[in-house]
Amino acid sequence: MIPFLDLHKINARFETEFSSKFKSFLDSGHYILGNEVKSFETNFSNYCGTKYCVGVANGLDALTLIFKGYIELGKLQPNDEIIVPANTYIASILAVINAGLQPVFVEPDETTFNISPSEIKKHITSKVKGILAVHLYGQLADMEAINSISKAHDLLVIEDAAQAHGAVLTSDSSTAFSTNEKKAGNLSHAAGFSFYPSKNLGALGDAGAVTTNDAELADTIRLLRNYGSSKKYVNTTLGVNSRLDELQASFLNLKLTYLDKDNNRRREIAKLYAEGIQNENIQLPECNNAEAHVFHAFVVRVTDREKFKSYLDSKGIGSLIHYPIPPHQQKALMSFKSLYLPVTESIHNTVVSIPMSPVMTNEEVQTVINVLNHY
Ligand SMILES: *Cc1c(COP(=O)(O)O)cnc(C)c1O
Repeated sequence: MIPFLDLHKINARFETEFSSKFKSFLDSGHYILGNEVKSFETNFSNYCGTKYCVGVANGLDALTLIFKGYIELGKLQPNDEIIVPANTYIASILAVINAGLQPVFVEPDETTFNISPSEIKKHITSKVKGILAVHLYGQLADMEAINSISKAHDLLVIEDAAQAHGAVLTSDSSTAFSTNEKKAGNLSHAAGFSFYPSKNLGALGDAGAVTTNDAELADTIRLLRNYGSSKKYVNTTLGVNSRLDELQASFLNLKLTYLDKDNNRRREIAKLYAEGIQNENIQLPECNNAEAHVFHAFVVRVTDREKFKSYLDSKGIGSLIHYPIPPHQQKALMSFKSLYLPVTESIHNTVVSIPMSPVMTNEEVQTVINVLNHY
């Protein structure tokens, strides 16, 4: 049996350190917004290269609060349109809708699975005020192209970096945002991260964060996440309760120091897969620049997915589908169901994610390769 993802094995590596973190946490008597959250905000903004990081309760809230923050600051108005990738996890789109904005669905590039800059251009109108770029499966969206569109049309750019902690953009171009090397979270006006347990940087529960270089936005989100209050029992704006949990922050402070090592192991496994899997019935992902990809998922495409999945099941190889139903075809988003998005639909019909995690052994990777080559 090779599980799709062995979360226990991932976290068991830190058992002793987690226990001592828990002991200090318990002894501190300070359980909400304490020193661990503060230090995680500093550590994670330093890691991403941004000036600010604000810890929140989860990834969906991180994105929603960015949009609500921009509305609060008057940089977005209710019902403004935001370009979103049609090919994404539904959370990206819920964030836009829950903040009172309108999503405009745009098709992906079929080779990268990420939003297509040329398709973005076709959808820009005077109502569009922002672009939400998702780094799907851990691979950076084409941020140089997206940021140059943003500059030309004066649009906000927000990253959904929930799957891309540590992905690096290397370039020498001199656009508004990029210099030599920048990480996910520092490639736009503001980014939302999730630390859901299965993410590349995962807590032992729900957690999330916003990164940005915009001081006003960071201050606004700090208010919004805590009842619209900076001083206890004084509420200056209509906020929510979406604080990063102190205990989760303490675990994240520890796990952040292993993130680059874990991402490198994921890249090694991806390389073994890319070289080892040779089967004309299985289409491998095209991943050119390893630095820009942290392989949150390794996603292959097959035409007969049900047959392929039951074959994997019969051989004891775990797999998942990211994702089986595109957002515009979900019952929850009924008003978008007449959209025609053939690239997104074909991706959703053919993708299968195979085992990928930093704790897989080379033997396990080889077993997966052998099983796939015998399909
Ligand atoms: C996980 C994820 C989210 C949401 O994060 P939560 O912490 O579960 O709220 C948003 N966008 C993408 C692309 C994700 O993978």
